[in-house]
Amino acid sequence: MFLFIPLICGMRNFDRNYDSNPEHQGLYCPKCHNFGVTPIKRREFFAFYFVPIVPVYWGKQLKCSICNWRQDFKTDEDLQRVVEEQKNYRNNPVYTTAQY
Ligand SMILES: [Zn+2]
Repeated sequence: MFLFIPLICGMRNFDRNYDSNPEHQGLYCPKCHNFGVTPIKRREFFAFYFVPIVPVYWGKQLKCSICNWRQDFKTDEDLQRVVEEQKNYRNNPVYTTAQY
């Protein structure tokens, strides 16, 4: 005898702040050209009855809060390199006038 119970499966994801370093907040977004990118820790799970069971993705990403652009990064060094590159964007007046 079988009992037919609807199986509810899905994906759940969790974004958390990567850190609170102000240098890492408001980075430049290559897609929408706003300074809305922050690093996050992202975890995606396969969920069964809304309970996260199997991790599908576990990593660090840069995420734009305005256009939802995302890019993976692996280490603090990667993040630091992005931050250093972005200082050129901010300090370059030609670039800045092109923005506004
Ligand atoms: Zn964006």
